[in-house]
Amino acid sequence: TNRIGVLDLQGGVCEHLDHLERLGITGIRVKEPIDFEGIAGLILPGGESTCLSRLMRMFDLERALLDAFQRGMKIWGTCAGAILLATGVLGEKPHLGLIDMDIERNSFGSQLDSFSIEASIPEVSPDPIPLTFIRAPKIFRVGSTVRVLLKFQDYIAAAENDQVLVTVFHPELTPCLAFHRYFALKCGISPSENRVAKAGHLWN
Ligand code: GLN
Repeated sequence: TNRIGVLDLQGGVCEHLDHLERLGITGIRVKEPIDFEGIAGLILPGGESTCLSRLMRMFDLERALLDAFQRGMKIWGTCAGAILLATGVLGEKPHLGLIDMDIERNSFGSQLDSFSIEASIPEVSPDPIPLTFIRAPKIFRVGSTVRVLLKFQDYIAAAENDQVLVTVFHPELTPCLAFHRYFALKCGISPSENRVAKAGHLWN
């Protein structure tokens, strides 16, 4: 399958679907257990992790997600999505626990609530990548099965294992398609940039 799902309960759903479309990939809104059929990957968007976790249980999606994961589905969590995927959440019970790492929520405090920077992540793109942080968490430990993609000062901002990718920032809120392309390739999908992507975006 060449389809990627976006968990559609709360948070930045449209922005992810839009980025997938620009890469010529069919994005599927995942709202019900049956929506997990036929997707190679799933994006857990940013939003509010407590809320997302509660809604996932209410709509009976957790079991279906874990079953699809067992069958090989890849998962990418952005921000709140990364919190849902961690095996450890500081001061709270972890949620899905699919990547061996510890994360702290709202870790930048109120003064540095939201900000944007650029960083070079050679594994993901030859060009610098714009990064937007919104009440972001910090990853402060990863296990030996996890590869760090981006580290800043005292924390890890992007990491992955064989099946799971996590970013504490929001590539879907920038014009850059690099992370979506990277995740598509992780899912075994070759993006075919369509004409929208070529039309007038600074970053590809
Ligand atoms: N602060 C949110 C949380 O703790 C995450 C913010 C985001 O996804 N932009 O879940």
